[in-house]
Amino acid sequence: MALLTLSNIHVRYGSVEVLHGIDLHVDEGEIVTILGANGAGKSTTLLSISGLVRPCEGEIIFDGKPLLKYPSHEVVNLGIAQSPEGRRVFGVLTVLENLRLGAFTVGDKEKAEQTLDWIFDLFPRLHERKDQLAGTLSGGEQQMLAIGRALMGQPKLLLLDEPSLGLAPLLVKSIFETIRAINQSGVTILIVEQNARAALKLATRGYVLELGRVVMEDTAAHLLANPSIQEAYLGA
Ligand code: ATP
Repeated sequence: MALLTLSNIHVRYGSVEVLHGIDLHVDEGEIVTILGANGAGKSTTLLSISGLVRPCEGEIIFDGKPLLKYPSHEVVNLGIAQSPEGRRVFGVLTVLENLRLGAFTVGDKEKAEQTLDWIFDLFPRLHERKDQLAGTLSGGEQQMLAIGRALMGQPKLLLLDEPSLGLAPLLVKSIFETIRAINQSGVTILIVEQNARAALKLATRGYVLELGRVVMEDTAAHLLANPSIQEAYLGA
């Protein structure tokens, strides 16, 4: 069953249209990836789902509800969390304070504490550093914190924008393993990732965006085996 459906989404920045009618869906429990060159519109697609960018045309249905009728701060309450590109943690707050901020929409304090324990299980590094100022963490740790903070809101759908950007190869492997574990615990995931091969190995399905349009949609296995995808995105 589709948890999220985008139909004919158009987005403009000023007078320039950058998404020209995106159709995509994410079923409950899936990991779906969006591939595409720089500027293809991947981040804009995620931002239009989280409500930070307003499409000028089209419809987004999430969990049966028309998302575009809700203001962006309510989108979080509906169960969508985005871990943004570039991390954006609060550097002058501790790791624990950053994580607690992510739970501000959660009324049930006991549930929030359980979620915190779960996040510390997923990212033991964050537990070790819970009292450290976020600004003093390494890039990889800040990335973990950004994902952890998004999870504190107990989302049904997690939007990840370039989670492996700038990370050392060993950390990249570990962040992908953690994303799989997050999904196995029941969170549906839509991920944009420059490391297309790793994203396709993780995902069930993928979409290819070119210049603001979906040009291909297939299972991750088919995309991995497709010579034109290999040439364009997998460095083959
Ligand atoms: P990247 O991997 O480089 O982030 P992307 O596929 O995520 O690429 P977007 O960031 O969604 O692409 O950008 C799509 C288009 O919109 C690009 O042409 C980009 O230059 C333009 N764009 C993005 N953000 C803005 C903005 N705030 N104002 C104007 N144009 C923008």
